Amino acid sequence: MKARGLAALSARAPLTTFEFERRDLGPHDVALDISYAGICHSDIHQVREEWGAALFPMVPGHEIAGIVSSVGSHVSKFKVGDRIGVGVFIDSCRTCSSCIAGLEQYCLEEMTGTYNTLERDGKTIAFGGYSNIFVINEDYAVHIPENLPLDGVAPLLCAGITLYSPLRKWNVTKGTKVAVMGLGGLGHMGVKFAAAMGAEVTVLSHSASKKSDALAMGATHFVDTSVSGSLKNLSKSFDLILNTVSAHLDINQYLNLLKLDATLVVIGLPGKPYEVNVGSLLNGRRRIAGSMIGGIVEMQEMLDFCGLHQIVSDVEVIDASYADKAYERTIASDVKYRFVIDATTF
Ligand code: NAP
Ligand code: ZN
Ligand code: ZN
Repeated sequence: MKARGLAALSARAPLTTFEFERRDLGPHDVALDISYAGICHSDIHQVREEWGAALFPMVPGHEIAGIVSSVGSHVSKFKVGDRIGVGVFIDSCRTCSSCIAGLEQYCLEEMTGTYNTLERDGKTIAFGGYSNIFVINEDYAVHIPENLPLDGVAPLLCAGITLYSPLRKWNVTKGTKVAVMGLGGLGHMGVKFAAAMGAEVTVLSHSASKKSDALAMGATHFVDTSVSGSLKNLSKSFDLILNTVSAHLDINQYLNLLKLDATLVVIGLPGKPYEVNVGSLLNGRRRIAGSMIGGIVEMQEMLDFCGLHQIVSDVEVIDASYADKAYERTIASDVKYRFVIDATTF
């Protein structure tokens, strides 16, 4: 199938119009017309090779919301016209203990990413969601609730699930004291979900101008981390801290904000190691953990939760021609709170 989209032809190159082929439908495949594709900071890290050597030409995009246009002969999960979402992976081994547990993102053979990788045949480049159409095995796609707008849903497929999963894993509930570091695409979803779960949410942001938005999203407290000494009074305050910051930072001052036995979950991936002061860990038996997106079952659970609680991402819908500018604005923390490309403009 002929597809059209945006690609980076080499590292740090601007995004350019790109025509390519998607595979014809296999018996278990679903084709979709993409409606909206979110811009995740991970797209930017990869186009710029901030995580190491990447595969070009690269069609980024792993926050995909659209409508099923045709289905393979053995497809049972979707029918033509269904609202469908695709996230950060398109396949996995299906047989390892992680896959069997529904944790495909931690597949022992490695998940197959939506782009910047070869598909499981070892030779086809996987092209992502900055595109007009997509083809996916039905097992790796999810249903989108009828009551949610597709533009606000697209970012849920990465930003949403990436924050929902650790909030569930660390049993956030009524009264849990949660801090979210960074109010960007991921962070703002964390605030909305944690608030909906009943937590008392604090946003730790270096952008003072985001305060009113943070409170409107459900945060109770907002701390401007660019003010020196702003974290001092917060020592031993939080049960859980979610670090979504895309840039390198001093993580130790945040470890000190954890209560006894509490956990700081690293989610942002700036591509440069953090230096950890072991003293901050010992004092309070604190933990640092990581978390990466979520599996298919949990993605569906997250979307159903969003349908129930009327939660979507705050988006700025853009044309494809604005994508490079959107990258610059995202890097400058000037995104309210996710750029989403209207796929009719590819
Ligand atoms: P984003 O929209 O750009 O948000 C990042 C936020 O970090 C910014 O809005 C800003 O928030 C803060 N920030 C940026 N530069 C900063 C600096 N120099 N100092 C302090 N704070 C700064 O990015 P995103 O799409 O949410 O992604 C965030 C990170 O998560 C990226 O590294 C991405 O690759 C990673 N990620 C991880 C997973 C996973 O599975 N673990 C999944 C998706 C993405 P304030 O303005 O509020 O300070
Ligand atoms: Zn992402
Ligand atoms: Zn596996």
